[in-house]
Amino acid sequence: MYSSTRRSGLLLLPPRISRLSELAYNLWWSWTPEARRLYSSIDPELWEYVYHNPVKFLRWVELRKLERAAGDDTFIANYKKVMEAFDAYRKPEQTWFDQTYPQLTDHTVAYFSAEFGLHESLAIYSGGLGILSGDHCKAASDLGLPFVGVGFLYPQGYFRQLINGHGEQEALHEKLDFTNVAAQPAVDSSGAQIVVQVNLPGRELYATVWQIQVGRIPLFLLDTDVHPNAPEDRELAARLYGGDHEMRIAQEYVLGVGGVRALRALGIRPTVWHMNEGHSAFMVLEQIRELVEEEGLTFDEARGHVRKHNVFTTHTPVPAGHDAFPFDLMEKYFGSYWPRMDLDRNGFMALGYHEMPWRARFNMTVLALKLSNRYNGVSKLHGEVSRKMWHVIWPDRPVEEVPIQDITNGVHTRTWLSPELAKLFDEYLGPDWADRVDEPGTWEAVEDIPDAEWWQTHLRQKQTMINHLRRRIRQQRERNHASLDAVTSAESLLSPDALTIGFARRFATYKRATLIFRDIERIKRILNKEDQPVQLIFAGKAHPADEPGKGLIKRIVELSKQPGFRGRVVFVEEYDINIARYMVRGVDVWLNNPRRPMEASGTSGQKAALNGVPNFSVLDGWWPEAYDGTNGWAIGAGEEFDDQEKQAAADAESLYQTLEQEIVPLYFDRDADGVPRGWLKVVKASIRTCVPQFNMRRMVKEYVEKMYVPAMGQEAEG
Ligand SMILES: *Cc1c(COP(=O)(O)O)cnc(C)c1O
Repeated sequence: MYSSTRRSGLLLLPPRISRLSELAYNLWWSWTPEARRLYSSIDPELWEYVYHNPVKFLRWVELRKLERAAGDDTFIANYKKVMEAFDAYRKPEQTWFDQTYPQLTDHTVAYFSAEFGLHESLAIYSGGLGILSGDHCKAASDLGLPFVGVGFLYPQGYFRQLINGHGEQEALHEKLDFTNVAAQPAVDSSGAQIVVQVNLPGRELYATVWQIQVGRIPLFLLDTDVHPNAPEDRELAARLYGGDHEMRIAQEYVLGVGGVRALRALGIRPTVWHMNEGHSAFMVLEQIRELVEEEGLTFDEARGHVRKHNVFTTHTPVPAGHDAFPFDLMEKYFGSYWPRMDLDRNGFMALGYHEMPWRARFNMTVLALKLSNRYNGVSKLHGEVSRKMWHVIWPDRPVEEVPIQDITNGVHTRTWLSPELAKLFDEYLGPDWADRVDEPGTWEAVEDIPDAEWWQTHLRQKQTMINHLRRRIRQQRERNHASLDAVTSAESLLSPDALTIGFARRFATYKRATLIFRDIERIKRILNKEDQPVQLIFAGKAHPADEPGKGLIKRIVELSKQPGFRGRVVFVEEYDINIARYMVRGVDVWLNNPRRPMEASGTSGQKAALNGVPNFSVLDGWWPEAYDGTNGWAIGAGEEFDDQEKQAAADAESLYQTLEQEIVPLYFDRDADGVPRGWLKVVKASIRTCVPQFNMRRMVKEYVEKMYVPAMGQEAEG
């Protein structure tokens, strides 16, 4: 059988370290630095070469090196420690969920998302939504939730970003070799890989199901690049967010309808169905079809039943950002499906009907809102915006009573925290701090960490980031046939002494990446002040179809070559989880200047705060909930202008003033030992106030309490 021959390739490991392959197939390693270090210590160069992917690493590593590790006492001691921790993690005596809800452990939450950002070696995410899904799964595992994820294993993933010599973004698609991925075929009781089938217009489409183990929880991922699908269907889910409207509807059909069928084939009967954003909302239709066709319920009965168990998270504060399809396209895909739901055309279209200023469409958010019972936005501000935006669904209620709740996003601590800082926390917060991340009391003790020790640690991380970025930029310049001078100067790019501002995010225009360059002469003065140098590091991908977004990248690359900016402004290509990890630890300030209220939550600033990097941000997304005047800086005071130009002018002015008058002077105010005492007060306040609130442990517990448990409870009532 395919899977066993593949696995037997890995069985060539020396017996003393044979469990390295078992470990490689559980993404527990992605948030456990000690586990990753086992692999990297065997062959550090190969580890970098395979982009920190242990499965690929084990396939490529020389036997001689494995044998050397197996004979090394230090390696074996570390190996045993990691394996003990791995076993203890997977088979704990009791998890938070068991302890809190012992009567609910036989329920299952099925979490559907179009993208999962778990690790840099698995490029099936594009940005914040994917990172959130990945972190959600990891925390669900930590807390012991009965939980499964459902999504796609896109063979070409999202694109890789190359910036050419003209500053233009080029999108590169590489085909993933599944034998190098920590995925195994999801099999039925007879051991055969599960294949689901859906009907697309005029044809049948098949998708195989893969399983990725994330700690204690499985993720089931669909793949349509299989025989006997037609060539265009094999391409259908090749890429994340690729293709036109028709490809999107087909993808979402497979995710929603096919996802439900995959769980059925696995024998999983969820009692809670969680749609993370509207891409997966077709799954409610399949749940209704099952009850109508297989249990003989009427549509109304089926809808009443299904609604109770579905929960929905919306992430989009812009009306045009919600997925919506023309009715003729819906008819093409669902014309033979709605009779099976006991519906006619009108009844079916009403489920997603939504008027927009330009035209009416079948809207995935409307479908999700109408066919679930609990809904939330992803920050307090975004909750408010969503209640206003979807008031039309509940026209009889006052806006404040529109039943969309808010659960503010967080980040998975172990994934994003630097191992060096984790050691400091072990020492000063107590060894079990990670189990108390969401208790404010845990974080009071950061005040006990000596300033000088903290500062030295931070400077080491900063140097590590600079070294890494220099290497990346050198490679980029070599590839682009830059002059020898430009290539060698990459080695001295960025100064460890300069106040370093990081800006890394998707290059969607509302994030206004170039706002800081609004007044060129003023920012030049800020960057080049003698004795108080400042530098800017940018990274981020623009969606390949987003021409204005790509234009912003080009503009920054061009500026970075101009006198006054050269060496002070850099754009690093290929923003991903790996670059994000370096940046949120290595810069001094995290900049975020979206057009309020367009940022639903944002999470990169939460990663920065966790690593002692204070935020400098527009009061948008999560930041209004966190900012208290001592723990970072605000850009503007939360004003919203209709005129985008006025908004940009006001925000830029506030940004410059705060930089000039507060941030730069405070950073360079040092004591006799060179330690910036006042600065570290802000750093510590940022950790103390942000971390206990904006972490995944708090967030997933909140989902359990506000969404999952109520949806389970109604099961008991029938
Ligand atoms: C955290 C993260 C994001 C999301 O950050 P925002 O603050 O929402 O912009 C996007 N991409 C990567 C690679 C990340 O790590």
